[in-house]
Amino acid sequence: MKVGYISDDIYLKHDTGAGHPESKERLIAINKEIKTLEDSLVLLEPIKASPKIVSLVHPHQYVSHIQECCEDGLEIDNDTITSIESYEVALKAVGAGIVAVDAIVDKKIDRAFAAVRPPGHHASKQKAMGFCLFNNIAITARYAQEKGFEKVFIIDFDVHHGNGTQDIFYDDDSVFYFSTHEEMSFPGTGSMKDIGVEDGLGFNYNHRLASGSEDEDILKVYKEKLPPLVEEFNPDIILVSAGYDIHERDPLAGLNITTEGIRRLVSEILTLKDTPYIFMLEGGYKTRALAQSVRVTVEEMMK
Ligand SMILES: [Zn+2]
Repeated sequence: MKVGYISDDIYLKHDTGAGHPESKERLIAINKEIKTLEDSLVLLEPIKASPKIVSLVHPHQYVSHIQECCEDGLEIDNDTITSIESYEVALKAVGAGIVAVDAIVDKKIDRAFAAVRPPGHHASKQKAMGFCLFNNIAITARYAQEKGFEKVFIIDFDVHHGNGTQDIFYDDDSVFYFSTHEEMSFPGTGSMKDIGVEDGLGFNYNHRLASGSEDEDILKVYKEKLPPLVEEFNPDIILVSAGYDIHERDPLAGLNITTEGIRRLVSEILTLKDTPYIFMLEGGYKTRALAQSVRVTVEEMMK
């Protein structure tokens, strides 16, 4: 498989301050690890997403608000910090998904991994939170729809529930949102009873994993619950919110998933359907474990 890898040094310029877990060191570690695979990858540069593209999900007013917060380097909340460069960086994080879709449409690649920051899955239409400013994967989903991939299936394996992504597509039957996450973890959403509303009823699926869950526990969900949902929905493209804070060594959460478990999880995802796949980085805060996890992901994607 031809795999596009999208990252950029501009992502290092989003400065969250000393001691913040969502740091540039995450991407430095990932890109160092991926360097040894580069000859087998199609390296792509992200574009800066236009306000029009961002507005596929976020109202203009919200986009201007984020721009202003970044210009002033404001803390949006205790977790969600901006710096003067963050607006530009966030637009380029969105742009990675756009470049991935375009490269797939142009048949330059079959699959893409976007190593970006800030992450996106906690951002809803009008609210930044949980380290996230713009919802990268949601905008990518809408852009993919504009390019002819009518039905989009989003899989979110980050240890935290992607409340923003769920909210954005909650009443929508053209985008299926599937999430596994640790019970009782931030932001507290992601009840298994939340299955969508109106047209979106039945197109949202949450699975809470008990703290301490191991490889076999999470794999069971991906082997038994996920395949029939994908088969029934029959997506044209599959997008993955890849959060590696499920790793056993992650300091922000309490699942016990090994690097090899992540490899098997990714393998299960990639065998779901013969469609394009775009993975976008969300969480993962133990830099060494994160880098190794991204490596095994990309290795599986190349098979
Ligand atoms: Zn997370």
